[in-house]
Amino acid sequence: MVEKILNYVAGTWTDNGIANRQNVTNPAFGSPIGEVVLTPQEVVNRAVEQGRKAYETWRRVPVTDRIQYLFKFKQLLEANIDDMARTITNECGKTFKEAVAEMRRGIENVEVACGVPSLIQGYNNEDIASGIDEHMFRQPLGVVAAITPFNFPGMIPLWFMPYALACGNCFILKPSEKVPMTSNKMFALLEQCGFPAGVVQLVNGSKETVDAILDHPSIRAISFVGSTPVAKYIYSRATANGKRAQCQGGAKNPVVIMPDADMDMTTRIMADSAFGCAGQRCLAASVAITVGEARHTFTEQIADAAASRVVGYGLEEAVQMGPVIDARSKGRIEQLIGEGEKQGASVLVDGRQKQVKGYEDGYFVFPTILDNVPPQSEIAKTEIFGPVLSLMHATTIEEAIELVNNRAFGNMACIFTSSGYSARKFRYEADAGNVGVNIGVAAPMAFFPFSGWNDSFFGDLHGQGRHGVEFYTQTKVVVERWPQEWTRQF
Ligand code: NAD
Repeated sequence: MVEKILNYVAGTWTDNGIANRQNVTNPAFGSPIGEVVLTPQEVVNRAVEQGRKAYETWRRVPVTDRIQYLFKFKQLLEANIDDMARTITNECGKTFKEAVAEMRRGIENVEVACGVPSLIQGYNNEDIASGIDEHMFRQPLGVVAAITPFNFPGMIPLWFMPYALACGNCFILKPSEKVPMTSNKMFALLEQCGFPAGVVQLVNGSKETVDAILDHPSIRAISFVGSTPVAKYIYSRATANGKRAQCQGGAKNPVVIMPDADMDMTTRIMADSAFGCAGQRCLAASVAITVGEARHTFTEQIADAAASRVVGYGLEEAVQMGPVIDARSKGRIEQLIGEGEKQGASVLVDGRQKQVKGYEDGYFVFPTILDNVPPQSEIAKTEIFGPVLSLMHATTIEEAIELVNNRAFGNMACIFTSSGYSARKFRYEADAGNVGVNIGVAAPMAFFPFSGWNDSFFGDLHGQGRHGVEFYTQTKVVVERWPQEWTRQF
């Protein structure tokens, strides 16, 4: 059955009379499961107007009351986690286990946002001058919006929404048009929380919808996660329109494997990082740089791990890796593997042109390993966003760190080692905002900022934790004097 995916505007589920729609596909089956509305500018404008109206009341609700809605939301997310995860598997392709883990990381952000009464506190000085006191308050911005990608439909909206709401803003989500069903489920839970109409709204769509959001003068801040070219575009258009923006972009994450690393543990973690979620994670390990003897030990073991990974439909128990998002993505990934070969790499494990029995129309690319990728080649710099691990080889840690830092992205860099010296040197010198030591996916917990650097992030304040609270509030400084002679005597 093909489900109709609607907007949630002014506390109502509606298609807003929109005729323009797009199919949503289950990537394991290669067939449609939904149809989503693509919202035009006039409907976005209506949603923003509703948000503006709701804001006048919502910002006056005490923060301790605002977070009660989030406590309820957290309970509903917990109670519905399996249902949400199944939806993620069906529209996004990752395994059920990966989808549950995604939801867990999302829920963590709701929990942190329940602490906003402490996080939003300002500071003050008494007698900053004689008889004068000065206070800093944090006030909400107004209507804010987030535009999110396809690869974490449950978690990424939650990097932003709970903080924005707890801080007293009204929030509009524009999810990826490829995976709108998870947000639909999430908004059905938000509806049960009883938020006043217009406080939290969902508008579906693609570029036209995004542009309407970026150009609306009453939207004060934009949070974006997606590919680097779109992140750059959104950052420049949003800031040119006077908005705050935090835009997280793409990645190509290098991982250094030292010869003193525990190779069994390293291989297991690296296989999960490179091939988990079919490599469609902005924190996937995509380049492994071996040092010295690790060239032989790691290469052999990771090739075995890649070749033996069980690929299939993510709701089946034994499956370890699902399909990629769509036919276009499969074609692009397979073409890039070919480009890698032309540019001098050898295909050690080849995941192209493979089929899964019973799912012949699915968009499956099997785990692939490109060996001896030339560091200066195009493929060494291009984000593949699929289950493809490139191998490079260095003789010293210095040489490996040079390879790590020789790229435009800066989302994540990791090292596997048993040496404290190597670990510290790497932590200190790696040019990336999220660093892992014996970790394959260095995803910051919700209390920490998601700290991408360079071409992986455009803006100042990142998502999550305290950064989230600072991003969604503006500081107001009050300087006051109350002389005794001005006080009426009774
Ligand atoms: P994408 O850039 O294609 O789309 C992201 C969002 O932008 C979607 O909502 C889409 O509708 C919208 N969009 C797409 N093209 C647009 C355009 N021309 N104008 C305006 N809006 C547009 O990204 P995707 O394919 O959905 O997601 C994968 C990308 O996201 C990868 O590059 C991945 O590395 C990145 N990502 C980054 C992080 C991070 O934290 N840095 C996290 C997850 C994903």
